Amino acid sequence: SLDGKVALVTGSTSGIGLGIARAFASAGASVVINGFGKPEEVNDTLEFLQRETGGKAIYSAADMTKPDEIAGMVSLALEAFGRLDILVNNAGIQHVSPIDQFPVEKWDAVLAINLSSAFHTIRLAVPAMRRQGRGRIINIASAHALVASPFKAAYVAAKHGIVGLTKVVALETAEENITCNAICPGYVFTPLVEAQIEGQAKSHGIPREQVIRDVLLAQQPNKRFATVEEIGAFAAFLASDAAASITGSALPVDGGWTAH
Ligand code: NAD
Repeated sequence: SLDGKVALVTGSTSGIGLGIARAFASAGASVVINGFGKPEEVNDTLEFLQRETGGKAIYSAADMTKPDEIAGMVSLALEAFGRLDILVNNAGIQHVSPIDQFPVEKWDAVLAINLSSAFHTIRLAVPAMRRQGRGRIINIASAHALVASPFKAAYVAAKHGIVGLTKVVALETAEENITCNAICPGYVFTPLVEAQIEGQAKSHGIPREQVIRDVLLAQQPNKRFATVEEIGAFAAFLASDAAASITGSALPVDGGWTAH
């Protein structure tokens, strides 16, 4: 159970982040959600999370490309709840392009959101976790943190980078009952993947069923998308006391992708 715990999940208005926020709320945690979204949808999500939990749910609109807004988000969590037990760095974007045509501003945005934002949240959250004598940091990386695919230079670089950051933070906090791990999902069915299906169908000129089978799940031996509920349940386990000895790990949840 995560009763009485406070969790901050970046990029949790949608997809995997929302699945993790739901799993934490169901286990009794109070949650700070973050990400873009229409105000009425964000309010629906907050009400929904509060119905599932004895705890509270609040929202930060912080943009993960902006270090000052990230600092504001961490301060909001600490002011609202007086503690921060679990930090999940999940916000992420993708851009697909050959290296020689890769837009420079897309490279900068992917690195900022998928990698640098985690540096900022972690450097700001660790002091609170040290004071509390316990902490859990979970970075949502990717199978693309362990292996590469063409046309994803920024994403693969950022995801490999976050595994390096995960290991450093784990070593620096190892004696302090703080753990830091990376979850490395293969394909999970979310709006981010839906956009890739549409994009690749257009660029290859093939139907979406063929993109799913021959392009996306070509790498994934079990031939199915993981669900956000599966990732949420795994994150809740990593956040629990039972996972105290797991730190510095990059943990694939990828249907066998990185086994070959
Ligand atoms: P998604 O597009 O459904 O959700 C992304 C979330 O990040 C949204 O809440 C969005 O508002 C938020 N976000 C985007 N830019 C932001 C910014 N600048 N500031 C704050 N929030 C921002 O995507 P998803 O598929 O749920 O992906 C979540 C994470 O999981 C990403 O890091 C992604 O790389 C990773 N991942 C996804 C898959 C997959 O198959 N879906 C696989 C491996 C890893």
